[in-house]
Amino acid sequence: MAEKLKKVDVVVVGTGWAGGIVSAELAKAGYKVVALERGGDRTREDYTGVKDELRFTDRYEMMQNLAPETITSRNTLEEIALPVRTRSEMMAGTNLGGGGVHWAGATYRFMPYDFEIYSKTVERYGKKKIPEGMTIQDWGITYQEFEKYYDRFEKTAGISGERDPFGEERSSDYPTPPMKESPAITLFKKASKELGYHPYQVPSGNLSEGYENPDGETINQCMFCSYCTQYGCDFGAKSDPMVTVIPTAKKTGNFEVRTESYVRRVLYEGGKAKGVMYVDTNTGIEYEQPADVVVLAAFSLTNNRLLMLSNIGRAYNPKTRKGVIGRNFNGQFNITFLGARGFFNDKKFNLYMGAGALGGALSDFAGDNFDHTNLDFINGGGIELRQYGDAAIASNHVPKGTPRWGAEFKEKSIFYTNRNLVVWYTPAIMPWWHNYLDLDPTYTDEFNDPLLRVTNKYTDQDRNIAKFGIEKTKGIVEQMGADIIDEDEVPQEFDHIYQGGHYAGGVVMGADPETSAVNNYLQMWDVENLFVVGGSAFPHFGGHHPTATIGALAYRASEGIEKYLKEGGQLVEEKRKSFQA
Ligand SMILES: Cc1cc2nc3c(=O)[nH]c(=O)nc-3n(C[C@H](O)[C@H](O)[C@H](O)COP(=O)(O)OP(=O)(O)OC[C@H]3O[C@@H](n4cnc5c(N)ncnc54)[C@H](O)[C@@H]3O)c2cc1C
Ligand code: SF4
Repeated sequence: MAEKLKKVDVVVVGTGWAGGIVSAELAKAGYKVVALERGGDRTREDYTGVKDELRFTDRYEMMQNLAPETITSRNTLEEIALPVRTRSEMMAGTNLGGGGVHWAGATYRFMPYDFEIYSKTVERYGKKKIPEGMTIQDWGITYQEFEKYYDRFEKTAGISGERDPFGEERSSDYPTPPMKESPAITLFKKASKELGYHPYQVPSGNLSEGYENPDGETINQCMFCSYCTQYGCDFGAKSDPMVTVIPTAKKTGNFEVRTESYVRRVLYEGGKAKGVMYVDTNTGIEYEQPADVVVLAAFSLTNNRLLMLSNIGRAYNPKTRKGVIGRNFNGQFNITFLGARGFFNDKKFNLYMGAGALGGALSDFAGDNFDHTNLDFINGGGIELRQYGDAAIASNHVPKGTPRWGAEFKEKSIFYTNRNLVVWYTPAIMPWWHNYLDLDPTYTDEFNDPLLRVTNKYTDQDRNIAKFGIEKTKGIVEQMGADIIDEDEVPQEFDHIYQGGHYAGGVVMGADPETSAVNNYLQMWDVENLFVVGGSAFPHFGGHHPTATIGALAYRASEGIEKYLKEGGQLVEEKRKSFQA
């Protein structure tokens, strides 16, 4: 029998960017907030001097331990899914701050086109452009309405950037100037301009200068130490929840965070969420934490699973194509981040200096910025050259055809170590009726609860957009003067590798409860005091990295929760039959 705790105003599951923002905003507004985090407590000091490639790059120490709980994965409805068990096969954040601590920091907005993708595609190309079975839908809010939340996230995180010449409308400039331009980025930009494109500096959560955010939190200037992606920043220079929203929440006196607290159920009775049930993983003791509002901000996978385990909402059934929980699973996997790598015989760069989001980018082939009339796909993606800072053990790039060991490998690996650059494409991923989430009928976690099952299969849309992107990136690398160019191959099928933390959907937002689980405040249509925050709300994956949109959605949801706590009821009027699959 679980021990029942004192009721609070809001209980938040997860302490990444999504949970951290909601906690800070509601605690600032005077509400009593408890956040529950399955991972351990962490501070910046935990990462001091920890520049250990073996632990973090090769052994993925900051990622979720997949032994007690993981997902299962398959391509089609007919297959038996198998568990994903190694951290090289799946990266998901854990510990205080979640994936926001080990992220790289690339902080792009999605495009106006993404928010109204169905209407805008039909308007420009007609209904026939959307293939049967592609379940795109408008998000229930326009970019123009949503812009102010992006602006807030960027100001909280102190993002360093410059306007994308091809970009969307902005209410203000980035709060800090763009990052420095390395010779590799200069070369990328020069070649792109020669081809008539419009390059700019990647908007970065590694800051170009010291910054104090509107909540009074300080973020320091990046040292280009290069131990950034998959690491915590000991300089306090990477914008993350640990140095921003979590201290902001703590300062209010209204916030308590309980780490090593694994949430197993949302408690649900009479059409309302009553709180959550969790286990203290140190003692094994179960607790009930009652609350007026429950917020799931535990990353897209757990958000879905907790709803399913708690029997909340109408589960999606791919056979009837009805129901919403688990619908429109989407994400960027091995068919994204493909491009071309150039090897340069007479140019040398210092690739062992870098930062997670140091780079050049262009949006000429993103969203609907280019004409798709004669193309066999919709949407697009960003093109990037990133200077992450190469890892000494992991970075041994040699031209294709070089033996994988021996004298020739050694010679080429040394010669090209600072002479290779990669340019890649980050295409949008569209949802399909057959890509979805449900509970696995066979495999369970350490508490005997069913694991989440992913069913995900590529389509011609995915393969065609990837091929298009590879051709464009190859053109840029050629223009950069590479002597050897290795282009990536388009994989035919999803390989069950969940890298990079870009997985979304399943509890998607929209205007119509028939095709969305939450409204545009991320309030559930079916349970008015339950808000599901994060990438789980994306009806499709835009052609850029997701976290700015997750952060902005968390600000939008916070506003909604405050409104709900004052007024109660559904915050948005539903509009039925906006879309038929
Ligand atoms: C290596 C890497 C690099 C990345 N780089 C970028 C980038 O450059 N740009 C970008 O936009 N995105 C990037 N991402 C993605 C980014 O990390 C995620 O989009 C972001 O962290 C999601 O935030 P969130 O708050 O929704 O979830 P998370 O940060 O995952 O937070 C969820 C929290 O919930 C906790 N939790 C889960 N289940 C439970 C449970 N049952 N009980 C209690 N707590 C639970 C988790 O431990 C976690 O702390 C990267 C991801 C990876 C892995
Ligand atoms: S590269 Fe910059 S932001 Fe990244 S860990 Fe190093 S100092 Fe921090």
